[in-house]
Amino acid sequence: MTNALAGKRGLIMGVANDRSIAWGIARAMHGAGAELAFSYQGDAFGKRLEPLAASVGSDFMVDVDVTDDASLDAAFAALNARWGSLDFVVHAVAFSDKAELTGRFLNTSRSNFKNSMDISCYSFIEVARRAHPMMVENGGTLITLTYQGSNRVAPNYNVMGVAKAALESATRYLANDLGPEGIRVNAISPGPMKTLAGAAIGGARRTYKHTEQNTPLRANATLEAVGGTAVYLASDAGACTTGEIIHVDGGFHVLGMPQAEHL
Ligand code: NAD
Repeated sequence: MTNALAGKRGLIMGVANDRSIAWGIARAMHGAGAELAFSYQGDAFGKRLEPLAASVGSDFMVDVDVTDDASLDAAFAALNARWGSLDFVVHAVAFSDKAELTGRFLNTSRSNFKNSMDISCYSFIEVARRAHPMMVENGGTLITLTYQGSNRVAPNYNVMGVAKAALESATRYLANDLGPEGIRVNAISPGPMKTLAGAAIGGARRTYKHTEQNTPLRANATLEAVGGTAVYLASDAGACTTGEIIHVDGGFHVLGMPQAEHL
């Protein structure tokens, strides 16, 4: 897929460090010839992002907290001023209070429910609305990141499962809304990965080991595989795919039981 994204420009949201899924996607998209801009959440993440962005030939970084409309407005105004149009946006942003990513789902608080939904789901709609005018002429692709805890219960995933279910539904509604303008909207659903956000979920190490031992491919997702999937979706090869949730989880989602040797 060396030149699959040649001539395309896009925004990557959610690089916290070099283990971030957004970083795996950025690397793969750069390798496929795309020109990249990045958003980061606050100065500390901005400092970490700078050398990473530079390594893929980008100095285009904007500070965005997705709960702050003004920062989203400023970011898209900067993109519009610099590029005028946009071919893709990768939304790899999620948050929930760590204290509620363990223990009983029953104890989910109203404030964390709202905040998790706002950051992890609603922000995708806010991003889509701002990207839309920059994609309306030539079409484009919006990609978000989800997890299978949306439709099956995973230990400690709790309110994030509800937020991901809403995010997947929003993906389908956005796909239908924006389809007539040639804008495709898809979600990638990786299995558990060792990232900052992944580590916030109670029992993350055991979950990671369980999926590695039991997936049909006997391996967890890699940054390279998730990145390659994003390249495909943003490229012309993905031209007829929208409203889709693509699993990059070694096939774990097809299982009804653990493998016999791990029962
Ligand atoms: P990560 O911690 O590297 O990335 C999460 C990003 O969200 C960070 O860059 C953080 O700055 C950003 N963020 C959080 N709140 C924000 C806010 N208010 N405004 C702007 N940015 C904000 O972790 P990751 O695992 O790479 O997560 C990326 C996406 O992948 C998330 O949607 C996550 O749910 C999803 N995902 C992760 C896994 C996994 O196992 N790690 C599996 C499936 C899906």
